[in-house]
Amino acid sequence: MKKKNTRTRWVQKCDLGPDLPVPTQIVSNEEFAPPDQTEDQKRVEHKLNEIADEASKRLGVSRRDFLQSSGGMAAAFLAMNSVFGEFFKVDAAELFESAATDEKFPKKPFIFDIHTHHVETGKVINDPPLLNYRNAGAAWGNKDLVGKEHVWEDMYLENYIKEMFLDSDTSMAVITGLPAKEDKNNVLPPAEMIETRTKINGLADSQRIVAHGLFSPDLGRSDLESMKRQHEDLKVEAWKGYPGQPLADGSVGWWMDDEKVAYPAYEYSKKIGIRNICVHKGLPLPGWDLDHSSPKDVPKAAKDFPDMNFLIYHAGFQGGPPIMQILQGGLKTRTRIPWVSDLCEARKKDPKMTNVYMDLGTTFGMTAITAPELCAYMLGEMIEAFGEDHVLWGTDSIWWGSPQWQIEAFKRLQMPERFIKDFGFKPLTDEVKEKIFGLNSARVYGIDVKAKLKAIPDDYVTKLKKDYADAGGARSNRQYGWIRGS
Ligand SMILES: [Zn+2]
Repeated sequence: MKKKNTRTRWVQKCDLGPDLPVPTQIVSNEEFAPPDQTEDQKRVEHKLNEIADEASKRLGVSRRDFLQSSGGMAAAFLAMNSVFGEFFKVDAAELFESAATDEKFPKKPFIFDIHTHHVETGKVINDPPLLNYRNAGAAWGNKDLVGKEHVWEDMYLENYIKEMFLDSDTSMAVITGLPAKEDKNNVLPPAEMIETRTKINGLADSQRIVAHGLFSPDLGRSDLESMKRQHEDLKVEAWKGYPGQPLADGSVGWWMDDEKVAYPAYEYSKKIGIRNICVHKGLPLPGWDLDHSSPKDVPKAAKDFPDMNFLIYHAGFQGGPPIMQILQGGLKTRTRIPWVSDLCEARKKDPKMTNVYMDLGTTFGMTAITAPELCAYMLGEMIEAFGEDHVLWGTDSIWWGSPQWQIEAFKRLQMPERFIKDFGFKPLTDEVKEKIFGLNSARVYGIDVKAKLKAIPDDYVTKLKKDYADAGGARSNRQYGWIRGS
């Protein structure tokens, strides 16, 4: 018998019932609630059943053990390829030998996730319905979350550290937030983001976290004062804003290119030397104004502030019903993807718009496995318009659990031949992926990758990760006492 697969990442210990832990549901609507399985997704499930039965018999292991191994993961990608076409790099040999997977992906890229969240410890936030997001994560491809009961502890700092750094290959992360009218409803107020940075960098004894501050320019003067406090007292490293979110009384949101409302914030940021302005665009949350979530205000702001970088979180992807329609029609010809294509068109029209970057947070996660054709199409278009050095790795973890399933999917995703031939899209080479995974964000956030690659292997978080793996990676264990007192 060949060597049994030993790698257990990607699969949770429990809940692998008779139903397969395949990611089998499609792009969400704006409430992030995944709709029913499509016919294709049912076929993926059926195919995976077949592969798992055959491979586990041949290996002489139980079907459950097989699905928990790295071979089980390869099986899922093989099943997807058999239904959707050759979207993922995977070999049948990987079903039987974990070494085949290691051989296929020998290089460990520097992964800098610029889009991550957690909830302030002790808080319960139901608007937006954050705990339900874990179900969406399960439906989009995070097998660790399938069939699991989610509890608020899953959202707090200790689980954030576990899911980001112990359960995944992420090297560095940006912790970000979501403003609220009152601190008690704020997922993670700026002072808490800084606390997270202090704790994790302190624990690692090296820099693993970069922290955002929050800005909401529709609040006027008081927001400028808040920015000043966040800069002086907290030393925040970039700003995150939500133009679609109404915070001021009577507001329906704000526009990035509003000279009276938004420009004073950029002017102040420029003065204090913070160059990166990050904005949530696309994926409107319930109760938000749809129009203000569109990225039509990006080009003028970018043009008026050429010294600033504008990082468009979610790449402006609208999601929801328009996307379902596009998927039904298939992507046979060049197709407009709201509002990713709008941004791409604006960039192509203006060769000077080089200070705008596309973040993949959630946009990649919700499509990579449920709709790989759409995912590859959007990547192809973004790279064509913005360049392979302007697309940034973000996962919006830990809303959807550990980012590892997204990392695996991006490592394996390839540009379909048809898109290369018909649309002129670039292949997703290892070199392109290395840039997107981390080299681009490192440049934008001023991180010295060479120094990081030297420091991280010896830091304390790497040691923890090793101990944790040696102990069998008890993923459902919620005793995270090791962080306390640091
Ligand atoms: Zn986010």
